[in-house]
Amino acid sequence: MDIAALGARAAAMIDELGAISASPDHLTRLFLTPEHRRAADIVARWMAEAGLAVSEDAMGTVRGHWHPAGRDAPRLLIGSHIDTVVNAGKYDGPMGVILGILAVQEMVRAGFRPPYGIDVLAFGDEEGTRFPTTLSASSAVAGVFPPASLAAVDAEGISLRDALVAYGKNPDEIPAAAYDPGKVIAYVEAHIEQGPVLEAEGEPLGVVTAIAGASRLSVTVTGEAGHAGTVPMRMRRDALLGASEMALAVERIAKADPHGMVATVGRMHVEPGSINVIPSRVVFTIDLRSSSDMSRREALTRFEREAHRIADQRHLGVVISAFHEVATVPCYRDLQLRLRNAVADLGHRAPSLPSGAGHDGQAMSKLCPIGMLFVRCRNGVSHNPAEYTSPDDMGLAAAALIRFIERFQLPQLDSSTGGAPT
Ligand SMILES: [Zn+2]
Repeated sequence: MDIAALGARAAAMIDELGAISASPDHLTRLFLTPEHRRAADIVARWMAEAGLAVSEDAMGTVRGHWHPAGRDAPRLLIGSHIDTVVNAGKYDGPMGVILGILAVQEMVRAGFRPPYGIDVLAFGDEEGTRFPTTLSASSAVAGVFPPASLAAVDAEGISLRDALVAYGKNPDEIPAAAYDPGKVIAYVEAHIEQGPVLEAEGEPLGVVTAIAGASRLSVTVTGEAGHAGTVPMRMRRDALLGASEMALAVERIAKADPHGMVATVGRMHVEPGSINVIPSRVVFTIDLRSSSDMSRREALTRFEREAHRIADQRHLGVVISAFHEVATVPCYRDLQLRLRNAVADLGHRAPSLPSGAGHDGQAMSKLCPIGMLFVRCRNGVSHNPAEYTSPDDMGLAAAALIRFIERFQLPQLDSSTGGAPT
């Protein structure tokens, strides 16, 4: 196995896909667009060249099948997504598809014949950029796509249903995209880390423990507007100062959490928003993520208490509403172990880390056990044209997948260890 050659091939494929964009200036490739079509066709060609039988389901997911043990043998699924955000990097998504294809290609070449089949999947809708839907492609594969999502419309007013039809698909066939859970062993995805942890640890690869659950809150703080020059400091009811103190409380709560909780106040709207008026009303958002649902819930309770204490002290009103809640999806322990062993075969440590970002594995976990391999990216930068993962690291990741597949002789997973701790 030539790791450097695998890495160079992966980098060339990344560049080829990265050139397919709606804009000549930057990379934007949205679900069910002509760019998606072109990218899907290239992926299908690569799959065919690698020795896979290619098909495409009703949600546009490209599927490459390798069935050395016959079509009825259980399947190991390896995949990621080929859609992007606006002004994206080249690695987020495509890398996982490419590494899956390269790994299977190597196995075919080497004459390896596992007692199971492998399907490489290229999902078209992970980012949720075009439609206000989430993970529709992987949800269809997992058999959990909600038909109501077909009515979702994009910025041009085109519904998902109409976009699918324009893409040549029959939305009535979506249920047939679902795998039979009895025929699937596991779903494994290699993805760039999108954060700085592996780089800081000096490790090229990491094993994901869980895809973090998230809560999003909207907090409205009300005070009283007044003249910036005439109202003494002790007589003010400044909504922005209260909101600021609450934002600092969020930081304090997240920092004190032993599970690596992250919390962000990303938006703050101040009214009336004048330079010479004391702020009367502030609405801000909180995005809170943790790989422990219990500690996320505890943090929310603690924040609520803190926010009311701050509001009382400052004679402000506060209303907190949660508008989004996603539970943590643990990666299967046995798969974590197998991935770590595969990386250890290559002489690396593969530290464990949670994923703060969402992934197709969240939908796939409804179908089967999931495992994820993270690959180091430069400066932790992602969703940005500066996103970069070195050919060497991608070569190692492909080699780790190959080792993982080689070692995967028994299609039965050890369920005694369950999922990750939450
Ligand atoms: Zn991604």
